[in-house]
Amino acid sequence: MSEADVAGKKRMIVVSNRLPFTVRQEAGILKFIPSVGGIATGLSSYLESLKDHTHEFQDCLWVGWPGSSIGEEKIDEVRTRSLAEFNAVPIFLSEENIEDFYQGFCNETIWPLFHYFQVYTHFDDSHWAHYIEVNRAFCRTLIDLIRPDDTLWIHDYHLMLLPAMIRQHLPDVTIGFFLHIPFPSYEIFRLLPSTWRREILKGMLGADLIAFHTNDYRQDFLRCVLRILGYDPNMGEIIVGDRIIKAETLPMGIDYRKYNEGAAEPAILRKKQDIQKRLGDAKIILSIDRLDYTKGIVNRLEAFQTFLENFPSWRRKVVLLLIVVPSRVDVKHYEVMKNQIETLVGRINGQFGSPEWTPIVYMYKSLTFSPLIEMYASSHIALITPLRDGMNLIAKEYIASRVDKTGVLILSEMAGASKELLEAVITNPGNRNEIAEAILEALQMPEEEQIRRNTIMQQRLRRYDVVRWATDFMEELANANRASHRLAAKTLNPDARSRIMEHYHRSSRRLFLLDYDGTLVPFANMPHKAVPGQSLLRILRDLSQESCNEVVIVSGRERDFLEQWFSSIPISLVAEHGAWIKEKGSDWQMTPTMAAEWKPKLKPLFERYVDRIAGSFIEEKDFALVWHYRATEFEQGKLAAQELKDHLLALTANIDVHILQGNRTVEARVGGVNKGTGCVRFLSGDLYDFILCIGDDVTDEDLFAILPDTAYSIRVGVEGGTSAHHTIGSVEEVIRFLDQIALPDDQAISPAG
Ligand code: UDP
Repeated sequence: MSEADVAGKKRMIVVSNRLPFTVRQEAGILKFIPSVGGIATGLSSYLESLKDHTHEFQDCLWVGWPGSSIGEEKIDEVRTRSLAEFNAVPIFLSEENIEDFYQGFCNETIWPLFHYFQVYTHFDDSHWAHYIEVNRAFCRTLIDLIRPDDTLWIHDYHLMLLPAMIRQHLPDVTIGFFLHIPFPSYEIFRLLPSTWRREILKGMLGADLIAFHTNDYRQDFLRCVLRILGYDPNMGEIIVGDRIIKAETLPMGIDYRKYNEGAAEPAILRKKQDIQKRLGDAKIILSIDRLDYTKGIVNRLEAFQTFLENFPSWRRKVVLLLIVVPSRVDVKHYEVMKNQIETLVGRINGQFGSPEWTPIVYMYKSLTFSPLIEMYASSHIALITPLRDGMNLIAKEYIASRVDKTGVLILSEMAGASKELLEAVITNPGNRNEIAEAILEALQMPEEEQIRRNTIMQQRLRRYDVVRWATDFMEELANANRASHRLAAKTLNPDARSRIMEHYHRSSRRLFLLDYDGTLVPFANMPHKAVPGQSLLRILRDLSQESCNEVVIVSGRERDFLEQWFSSIPISLVAEHGAWIKEKGSDWQMTPTMAAEWKPKLKPLFERYVDRIAGSFIEEKDFALVWHYRATEFEQGKLAAQELKDHLLALTANIDVHILQGNRTVEARVGGVNKGTGCVRFLSGDLYDFILCIGDDVTDEDLFAILPDTAYSIRVGVEGGTSAHHTIGSVEEVIRFLDQIALPDDQAISPAG
């Protein structure tokens, strides 16, 4: 590659628990054995495609565990060979870590729980401690490796804490995270101890992009983020501080051509004929999975038994080719399941078999690529019925390997792949009768129908293959990163603070327009509890004592509340979003032409919602009715708010009443008034050479909209778009900033201080 090509190209670091190879020590000699799993082979195909020089990534590193514990004396050799032969950086784990992190937390907590096997889930503090420790070990290695414009792609449930750990050390690095297993529903996820579930979600939120195989997993994740961390996602985007995190659905594809072209090889076609000859004219039903309780192998065998019982005419005409791939062999649970499978195979063969026909041909072994596609190519039906499966690549590989487009895929509705392979015969994996019916349907399916369905599925798999999936992931990651940068660019940083303060100190007539709730005080469940603290009152007093300052609190609150807290300070007050105005030293004035005869008519509707939604209540003002749902079960409150708003909009179509959704409120207020109109009198006449306006809500946008170009506008928090020039993270930051401004000129300190 020329110098010019290299310029502007970036490096990708793939991080996964396992490297794409396992290191074994045999008689003192190190062997590097390539892995066959879905992530390893899929990603390897993608990384291979990056060698195409037009790609933006110049280089790639893979960081992970080499799959076994390596003796001290071999560590250097493993490190050197991993880098030289595989572009990989190994993370070495102790035996104890392998036991408690991998066998313990990953295999006995997250794996069963995220696959809805609650009864198999263990909660062990020491396993959790090792999970943190191993994530930290990954973090330490990565921090030494990462260069500023690297892109990190972290994979799967073993490393859910890692994104936030890295973010803490390197705030600007680009991080993507992909979860290859299901993300469970809130009701399942909440079974984790409170600290763990919070830490796991916060850990994942360290990434810029978090992607899942299906939209269900993504929605379940977003719901957990809302219910557990309180972040309300908007169109899959979560705002945390000054970062936007995107949650996306990106179903992993396969290397379609590899399977399709591989299965068309003459050698494979010959093998296919051999296998068919050996099994007579029987239709072959293929069942192949890793030994795992999530795969539903026992249920499948029971369903096959039911099939043979219910449809005796098919006996001797079908053979179930049952391949079980050894996995997690040292876990007791798996050993028990293996015995169960083997007993069942023996029982079914004993019950139905004859000297000429063995209903189930059983193999307990792992297949390499060629024997695997021989199986795919030879089988009339693939029976894939996991009880839960993040995706299931075998289903996709089977379809891709059907060169003549015949064959029927029976697929569990609990596999992520069922959301894409819609033309498969979709079945409920827990119901033996349904599976038996599905087998019958598949056996009777006319060839033209098989070809019709497989043509559609093959088209999809060809177009959305593993390279396209990974490329899409990288594009979404870049988009997410850009969105975060745009957001960060608006943040009121030390430079912007300096500029505002410097302008303040050289101006002679200054106006402050300050919203109250969410800007000067944090929200409380009940509005009467959100009262100003001593420091706020002091700052307002300090600001208003400067003779050239005019301070106005522009609030949705009622007059009485503002009067109660601020009457002793020489400032102006705007209540009920501009319906009432009290200029400094004067009495309250009502905005002309106000009418509130609609209030009694709308109130019963508000009351109905209070009765239905526990924790909600009505606030009644002179010219407004407000329904508050901050203290309700949030999702229920949010849905009801939308419903109430729609209802109110319909009811008020012909009257001058404004309906708006505020911060966990729905408000009906008299038309023609807003914070903008309420403040016109302060802004007309060009009286001020310094204007600072701060607010947190959609109602403040009305005010931002009428400010002169020279004014400074700041929005607290960043939910939704804003026309303000700047954003600021929290009420506390607003107070600190106002405090700095309120210092007399001679005591002014640097904004960063
Ligand atoms: N596989 C293999 N040899 C076998 C059985 C399976 O190489 O004997 C591969 C298969 O090609 C697929 C992966 O293992 O890519 C299994 O992925 P899947 O998503 O179906 O299940 P997982 O094992 O990841 O739960």
